[in-house]
Amino acid sequence: MASLEDVFLEQEMTNWLKAWLALNITKTGLHDFVDTEVQHLQSSILQSVTSTLGLSPNTTCTICCTANLLKCPTHKLCNKGKISRVCKFHDTAIKQPRQCPVHICDAVRDGIVNSHRYKGPSWNNTLAEQWASNHWEVGKCYMPPDGYISVRSFEQTDFNGVISIMLNCTLFDSKLSFSIAPQLSPPCPLTKAREVGKAVRHSSDCKVTSADLQEYVLTLVTLLGDSKVLIHDVRAHDAVRKLNQLQTNSLKLSVTEVSQLLKDAHQTLTQAKQVSEESKTKMEAYIDKLNVHVQNLLDKCTEDITEHTNTCTERSKRELDIHVQKVHSRKEELDYEKAIDVQDVEET
Ligand SMILES: [Zn+2]
Ligand SMILES: [Zn+2]
Repeated sequence: MASLEDVFLEQEMTNWLKAWLALNITKTGLHDFVDTEVQHLQSSILQSVTSTLGLSPNTTCTICCTANLLKCPTHKLCNKGKISRVCKFHDTAIKQPRQCPVHICDAVRDGIVNSHRYKGPSWNNTLAEQWASNHWEVGKCYMPPDGYISVRSFEQTDFNGVISIMLNCTLFDSKLSFSIAPQLSPPCPLTKAREVGKAVRHSSDCKVTSADLQEYVLTLVTLLGDSKVLIHDVRAHDAVRKLNQLQTNSLKLSVTEVSQLLKDAHQTLTQAKQVSEESKTKMEAYIDKLNVHVQNLLDKCTEDITEHTNTCTERSKRELDIHVQKVHSRKEELDYEKAIDVQDVEET
């Protein structure tokens, strides 16, 4: 195990990485809550559709693609204009708008729209063919408009995607103690959490002041400890504990976890457009330095583990020998007792 302080050496850059970690911890803490609610949403839409249509509850359709279910032009999706006669979204014969042969998909589409706060699901993200088989394809309709098409599960979704589902899907209205109002001031805890995500992702110098970090963590802890449902959620509870440890520098991570964090941060940095080249180079150099440090810790760990295993093996061997010896002597005792018994029987 490594303390973050062992690994991270420069304060404000360290804070930026800690803020990253705080977002990851929060996402993990929301896993069961959000994933379960999205499953409920999917099954309640499917159930209501089949019952309205008078079909058996397990009837599904897997032949309609998203483009089939949306008219052309659809706002923000189709781009048929004066120059191009072909819409990019409905660009082939099989992608033309048409009704679902069993009417299920059209009704599921309407169900998804009805549960969207602004009635504008992100159709670009979702595969309608899988609406019945993967609840996450339904959940992705509530994420930001682009960039989630290849995401298949909660685990593969980033913090921003997860927070967006909670903000945009009205199902969460009854699951949180506050009213979800992204446009209102003061902002609700979910809106504030989204802002934290943005601030960390869009930081122009990969630095976070200690005061800001404290504020970010407080925001995330407030969300995870929400009194309606999350307060009873084990994973949310665990995340709160970790965030508090992060604040007090007592969070212990495995070297593999630190290594993964650095990899994630590096990947974000590579994709970031707003970060100046100078800051990028500095942060990359810093991450490289940390990686070397982590590698050293990892080597040390491997040495420790090998040493530990050797000791264990020797100890186990000794214990096994003792055990075998015991079994042997017990067997001898039993043989002896049996012999006596036989003698007894023979004698009577
Ligand atoms: Zn179109
Ligand atoms: Zn269909």
